[in-house]
Amino acid sequence: MKRSVLTGLRIPFALAAALCSGALATASERAHVHGHGTLQFVIENSTVDIAFSSPAGNLLGFEHQAHTPEETRIVDEVQAWLSTTPLIDTPDERCTLRTSEPDMGSRTEHDHHGHNHDDEEHRDIHVSQSLECPDLSNATALKTPLLRQYPGLQELDVMWVTPSGQSGATLTNEEQAINLAP
Ligand SMILES: [Zn+2]
Repeated sequence: MKRSVLTGLRIPFALAAALCSGALATASERAHVHGHGTLQFVIENSTVDIAFSSPAGNLLGFEHQAHTPEETRIVDEVQAWLSTTPLIDTPDERCTLRTSEPDMGSRTEHDHHGHNHDDEEHRDIHVSQSLECPDLSNATALKTPLLRQYPGLQELDVMWVTPSGQSGATLTNEEQAINLAP
């Protein structure tokens, strides 16, 4: 059985419950694929709970332990951005962070598809966030700053749960809107 990318990530209860409900759980078991990431969120009243996972290379440009001062600076910068930026927002940017917990990654044990990576290091970055977003019940679309901030993230699988059900979309540089209305 494949190890879930969410293993070891402290995720809010509502999201954990949603992840166990089927559709999201399948996607959360995706392997470590460079260029791809997953973003999952649950909307409940004005609260949004988020779990983001990506191979570290998509954000840092490398996956090994930082060796040089330049690499350390990059890790610190990305961690600071993830700590202070809501990964989901309304079009007029009303969401504020309640908590953000970036995990900059320990070495992954995932299966790698397509080529042999046995002698390379791979890491995943996980971020757990809780947001406060007023007037969310009127929102028909949300956005994420991730694709613009990190061009190495070429494809983002987004899955969400709202009081009216669950859905998903794949975002790319060309398609960045999250349309909540069916
Ligand atoms: Zn990798």
